Amino acid sequence: GANWRRTIEILREFEEKCGTPVEKLKQVTDALVKEMNAGLASDSAGRVKMLVSYVDNLPTGDEEGLFYALDLGGTNFRVLRVQLGGKGGGIKHQEFAEVPIPMELMIGTSDVCDSVSVDLFGYIASELAKFVAQEGQEFSLPSGRERELGFTFSFPVMQTSIDSGTLITWAKGFSIDDTVGKDVADELAKSLKKHGVDMHVTALVNDTVGTLAGGRFSNKDVVAAVILGTGTNAAYVERAEAIPKWHGPLPKSGEMVINTEWGNFKTSYLPLTEFDKALDCDSPNSGEQIYEKMISGMYLGDIVRRVLCRMAEEASFFGDTIPPKLQIPFILRTPDMSAMHHDSSPDLSIVGSKMEEILEIPTISLKKRKVIHELCRIVATRGARLAAAGILGILKMLGRDTLPSNKEKQRTVVAMDGGLYEHYTEFRECLEETLKELVGEQVWENISIEHANDGSGIGASLLAASHSRYI
Ligand code: ADP
Ligand code: MG
Repeated sequence: GANWRRTIEILREFEEKCGTPVEKLKQVTDALVKEMNAGLASDSAGRVKMLVSYVDNLPTGDEEGLFYALDLGGTNFRVLRVQLGGKGGGIKHQEFAEVPIPMELMIGTSDVCDSVSVDLFGYIASELAKFVAQEGQEFSLPSGRERELGFTFSFPVMQTSIDSGTLITWAKGFSIDDTVGKDVADELAKSLKKHGVDMHVTALVNDTVGTLAGGRFSNKDVVAAVILGTGTNAAYVERAEAIPKWHGPLPKSGEMVINTEWGNFKTSYLPLTEFDKALDCDSPNSGEQIYEKMISGMYLGDIVRRVLCRMAEEASFFGDTIPPKLQIPFILRTPDMSAMHHDSSPDLSIVGSKMEEILEIPTISLKKRKVIHELCRIVATRGARLAAAGILGILKMLGRDTLPSNKEKQRTVVAMDGGLYEHYTEFRECLEETLKELVGEQVWENISIEHANDGSGIGASLLAASHSRYI
């Protein structure tokens, strides 16, 4: 029979290990800031890469013309076209399409043979071709010009210019070995050509950089962007002279957008549990993206599943046998976890139905549903509070974590995007509460987090516009 005492023991021990008191969060922040500074100093210094984006000017609002964008980085990719109105004109028209990425293409070896659409980039090119074919009259391109594209690619890339860069490593379930080390803009361009898409790759940007650009277009006070979706990452505007590893000419603006790649952050101050370690061990990128694995949407549900597994094994939580489905990695997805966490019915009926639907576990007692609910809360709270500690780190890099010395009000806006932030209300609210707690009431008054819905796609098209080969 069920061993209730052991269940509660596992729960409480897990909760204790996941603890994130403010002092601990501040240690996490300080360790992150240290890593970020090391990353700015040298490319080989540490885990947080602080990639130079080659974006030294953010959109002004004067951008004009027809531009395409392609956003690749999760389970779906999006294609987008916008007609930009020029000075004060804003976005005149926009259209997008979302296409799922077949699982086998996420792990397949790209371009092993010459047949079309067996590889990821070929698939993307063929989908883009369909989208371009549907372009309506409201979009217009001056005659004699080739269409231009901003490519949002949400993986670590060592940029060599605004429109080129080599893939450092995959993440978030992608692992196509022979693309690592290649110029991804070039790979895309080759596939576009092969599929007869007449389009120039004008800008290659990380989704954080795209979100920052899109955010700035709609709000002048945006100085950083954070993604909380399948994975997590952040970008911000750094002073070019504060980047020791930058040996290129100092940009006129004096600024350079840095893609932090903070997902790979790790410090002994992180409240890592044995469940996190096991998740990491079982992942294809073991030892990497540790911060991301504690925070982002790809992983939270699986952490909950792993603790439930332990309860099933050691406390017969689901009866005398371990439910077979419970042993399938990633079967419990973060959106399901979030639905259980948001269950406010007195009998936690959603928790019950999720267990039935997903894990084929027949009706369980309210007492047990409460344990599962509690587990979701613990995992989400830790993730949200750690994300807040990260944002405090970015504010410190920007010098915006304290009140300005002059009396002028200086607003700081962080553009935020990603399905986790957008849909997981408890996560979002906990993150904001924690950030407020960390910076204090007064500083918090000058800070806001703004949801930039699909900012990265718009941002990439804006960056393609400002870097157009025709201007
Ligand atoms: P990506 O990060 O891949 O570009 P999104 O920003 O759309 O994509 O984020 C998708 C992720 O957001 C999913 O992997 C999932 O983990 C998370 N997510 C989506 N819906 C919800 C939800 N209702 N509750 C919690 N997390 C969600
Ligand atoms: Mg995205």
